[in-house]
Amino acid sequence: MTEARVFFNFAVTADSHRLPAYRGRGGYGALETALREMAPAAVEAEVKASELRGRGGAGFPTGMKWSFVDRTSPVVYLCCNADEGEPGTFKDRWIFEEASHQLIEGILLASYALGVRHAFIYIRGEFDLPYRRLCEALAEARAAGLVGERILGSSFSCDIIVHRGAGAYVCGEESSLLTSLEGFKGYPRNKPPFPAVKGLYQAPTVINNVETLATIPWIIAHGGGAYASIGAEKNSGTRLFGISGHVNRPGLYERPTGYPLKRIIFDDAGGVRGGKGLKAVIPGGSSTPVLTAAEIDGITLDAESVQAAGSMLGSGGIIVVAEGTCMVRLLRVLTRFYAHESCGQCTPCREGSAWMDAIVGRICAGKGEPDDLERLEGITRGIMGNTVCALGDAASMPVASFIGKFRDEFAYFIKYGRSMHGGRLEISK
Ligand code: SF4
Repeated sequence: MTEARVFFNFAVTADSHRLPAYRGRGGYGALETALREMAPAAVEAEVKASELRGRGGAGFPTGMKWSFVDRTSPVVYLCCNADEGEPGTFKDRWIFEEASHQLIEGILLASYALGVRHAFIYIRGEFDLPYRRLCEALAEARAAGLVGERILGSSFSCDIIVHRGAGAYVCGEESSLLTSLEGFKGYPRNKPPFPAVKGLYQAPTVINNVETLATIPWIIAHGGGAYASIGAEKNSGTRLFGISGHVNRPGLYERPTGYPLKRIIFDDAGGVRGGKGLKAVIPGGSSTPVLTAAEIDGITLDAESVQAAGSMLGSGGIIVVAEGTCMVRLLRVLTRFYAHESCGQCTPCREGSAWMDAIVGRICAGKGEPDDLERLEGITRGIMGNTVCALGDAASMPVASFIGKFRDEFAYFIKYGRSMHGGRLEISK
């Protein structure tokens, strides 16, 4: 398996995120080459050839997404979705802190390919150091003629505007991101029309994740075919996987797609903390269905493999759960989060997420009722597929999968008014 690195290809030092260091390791070379030697269509062709899929969670092919945009429109916008808020996911934060210039170069290459003159970065409001590092990098890039008018002396001009979110998880959903960017309350929009047709300020808009865009300089520098040759078939390249929960070495790992899930948990992240056994894994951010330890046997880190096991690779945030953890209390952490983050626009999600949290909460308080599990399952069925955006499904999938796979623990808690594991939840220690 190739050892190619798109992100972890330099040593992090006090100034490795600054422009001189980035240029010193070849940074902005892909942009120079593109502006000097490649037509915009050639840049797009390389991205298509790379088979790069979006790294935000949905995994849609990037080149195909770009091809939906109406190029006859006088204005096309690019929005970088940096509202990274899925629990268990912390890869974009690292890119801002250590590789903001790589993201800026990727945005410029995408803008060149798509005919964009104004690109936006919608960054999560809670990000402090990432925001400061991004602003510092943008100021350096502007001063060096890399952002703004007639970039590097070419006829290509593009400005990058940074917009800070205000702490709403739902603004990571692409249509609510646009609504928020326009200055309104961040409600998701009904689709169609999709952003590629009517997006920001009603103009065709491409929305790409931070990691997706920051991968493009490597693709242009090495060729789409080289990127496609890394990792799993139809799921090419490397990905940044964040491992958290009960492991000895939590953190961010860049690995090729197709890498064994067990290997990243037991070899790279040092296995389960305290010498305990593995109980469960949430493979792609907190909204993805939980898998039992037995179910992860043979799974590789690519969308198809994880999907075949009944879950999703999502944003690449792997949450590891040790034996002895109470799954009822763990679920309560998740139901609380999603009930709080529901924007309230549509009834199934607004009411259902609050009901689920209230019922799981009363089970945790030792006051569960005999038919609570059937009630919870009925609520998940009422939500899934019946909401304006995917947050409804995101709130329901953990409930359905936790009850489906650990039913005996929920039944015990309801029957005896206490956890079969005793103690308290310790997911964040
Ligand atoms: Fe808002 Fe939830 Fe409806 Fe999405 S699914 S629009 S978050 S209420």
